[in-house]
Amino acid sequence: MAFSVEIKNLSYAYEDLQVLEDLSFSVNKGEFFVVIGPNGSGKTTLVKLIAGLLRPKRSEVRIMGEDIRSYGRKSLARQIAFVPQNVPLDFPFTVSDVVLFGRAPHLGTFGLESENDIKLADQAMAFTEVDHLARRRMDQLSGGERQRVFIARAICQEPEIIILDEPTAALDIAHQMRIMDLMEKMKQEKSITAIMVSHDINLAAMYADTLLLLKNGRLFKWGPPDEILSYETLEPVYGCPLLVDESPLGRLPRVTPVPGRYIKEGYRV
Ligand code: ADP
Repeated sequence: MAFSVEIKNLSYAYEDLQVLEDLSFSVNKGEFFVVIGPNGSGKTTLVKLIAGLLRPKRSEVRIMGEDIRSYGRKSLARQIAFVPQNVPLDFPFTVSDVVLFGRAPHLGTFGLESENDIKLADQAMAFTEVDHLARRRMDQLSGGERQRVFIARAICQEPEIIILDEPTAALDIAHQMRIMDLMEKMKQEKSITAIMVSHDINLAAMYADTLLLLKNGRLFKWGPPDEILSYETLEPVYGCPLLVDESPLGRLPRVTPVPGRYIKEGYRV
């Protein structure tokens, strides 16, 4: 079985608000898959459906070959870990507590962690470089540190798939790159499938194997970044003038939004 996730004719509505309409695509095992699109296009709703946080009505979401609705909560958590948006938390727990929570889907009836669980938590903290913070409380961390703790928790869960909803939002550029490099290392060393929502098209282009572009809840286009990132594709979706050329890093598209004053001066693509 080559696919981690298969989506077939997926539609979703919040009561009478139709948010997703007839999406079909698949995510390969070990792939770095990034969902992009304007605000309100349905990105978060889509990843919540894949993570099992929202329930599809029909057999439209398959995880590791099985209908997502056939998994129990614990068995799904052994397949998928969800890293939420980087929201400041008033958390009384320490970093090592939070990372160890990742073992919950693997624990027996009494919920006691074994030496192996503690070892896995230590390894996950070392992998995301938060081991020196193990005794600190979550509410005493910076945004970038907190995000690395949540990724450590996800890794400690030993899932096949990690889903991240805008993990780099509100981080400075160095911390954004650190999170993205970490995701790349996770893919290379652990072969975990990563599905990420991102607002940053250029960051996505630098790391993703596949981009999926949503517009008004519909799949506009999906494929490798150099196929998706052209101004013919992006302008009708984002509704603003954009230039696309090659990044100075080479063989990567680079998207430059055009400020309004250039447009007033008669700018043309
Ligand atoms: P994106 O992540 O692309 O910004 P979302 O999936 O968050 O898009 O939202 C898509 C649409 O669904 C928006 O119009 C939003 O207002 C609506 N929406 C999101 N969550 C809910 C909810 N819990 N109840 C009702 N409407 C929602």
